[in-house]
Amino acid sequence: MDVVVVGGGPAGRALASSCSAVGLATLLVDPHPERPWRATYAAWADELPAGAPVAVVAAKARAVAVGAHRIGRAYAVLDNERLRRLPEDVVVVRGSVVDRGRNHVRLADGRVLAAGVVVNAAGSTGGGAAQHAVGVVVPKASATPFVGDDEALVMDWRKPPDAGSPDPTFLYSVPLPGDRVLLEETSLARRPGAPLAELRLRLHARLAAHGIAVPEGEERVRIPLAGRPVAGAFGAAAGMVHPATGYSVADALRLAPEVARGIAAGTPVERVVWPPAARAVHALRRHGLRVLLGLHPEQVPNFFDLFFQLPENQQRNYLGGRSDLVGAVRAMAALFGAAPPALRARLAFPGPAVKRTRTSG
Ligand SMILES: Cc1cc2nc3c(=O)[nH]c(=O)nc-3n(C[C@H](O)[C@H](O)[C@H](O)COP(=O)(O)OP(=O)(O)OC[C@H]3O[C@@H](n4cnc5c(N)ncnc54)[C@H](O)[C@@H]3O)c2cc1C
Repeated sequence: MDVVVVGGGPAGRALASSCSAVGLATLLVDPHPERPWRATYAAWADELPAGAPVAVVAAKARAVAVGAHRIGRAYAVLDNERLRRLPEDVVVVRGSVVDRGRNHVRLADGRVLAAGVVVNAAGSTGGGAAQHAVGVVVPKASATPFVGDDEALVMDWRKPPDAGSPDPTFLYSVPLPGDRVLLEETSLARRPGAPLAELRLRLHARLAAHGIAVPEGEERVRIPLAGRPVAGAFGAAAGMVHPATGYSVADALRLAPEVARGIAAGTPVERVVWPPAARAVHALRRHGLRVLLGLHPEQVPNFFDLFFQLPENQQRNYLGGRSDLVGAVRAMAALFGAAPPALRARLAFPGPAVKRTRTSG
């Protein structure tokens, strides 16, 4: 084999497909390669590569912090079935990698797979700060108190009726195929991650306030945010998750062809994934995470009010643009310039994370 990709999540599959497209003999190994994904993956439509498998696009987006903000960008929910599809010439092996070298992997059952290059796409590891959420799917008609037609609600920081702690959480909502809508109570960043039980209570309280019955089933989201650049890896395993937003799928889809071309040319994966500018932007975003963790609950909506008042290109630079150092610096400088003194101090010197009780969820 030319390439062994460890892990068949969105990043691993995008990379395996791209490696096959440039003529590399590719093998993907995953413990459960046939298991459907339960996560709802979404991204700003303009951050996705052309031809990305999109299930639904909301033409507009909205955020509510202290005030409401219209965002003139389309927001897309991905089609997991198509995202999972692999070209026929990618060899899929069921197995769990227990040992990884530069040119081989050993599986739990003792098999050894050899390749010119091994790429770790086995997802995030580690604890620390995390984004947690609990979501339910409701018919579109019931979701009208929260989200408009053809619209994504990227965050609504207005408090749910039943918040058991001062922890700030927001409602996130995206349209799904079949006239359904995902409503998700989200804790953007907390260390340790917010208890799912509290998020569930808040979400159910929001539904109850509008007489909406709690549907069966829920989506549980746990995204480690504190990843750092890792060599020989791709996707969340490489530290590609945005430390302040939790997103990584659009970046993985966009970068996969470039990484595959690099592998074909003998370039180390990390040189494509983590050029100096991307490392510098990541360090700034990690600062952004520390800011979020250090904000007092009542400062959080004010912070996002300022953020969504930035010109849209600056918002875009901060949320996307993983190698655009100038753009990231400009966005952060603009936010700093617009902030009142107390918030400005927090932005410059985040200080320790606001104390949280450790609770299970
Ligand atoms: C519920 C949920 C919703 C999310 N929504 C979004 C979103 O809307 N937009 C966004 O950008 N991000 C989102 N994220 C965050 C992040 O982008 C996802 O975690 C994404 O799945 C990361 O993709 P990945 O392929 O890097 O890793 P993963 O999806 O975690 O895939 C890793 C794969 O590696 C396999 N694996 C693990 N260990 C081994 C091993 N030892 N040997 C072999 N295989 C192994 C796993 O079985 C898995 O299939 C979400 C996360 C969650 C949990």
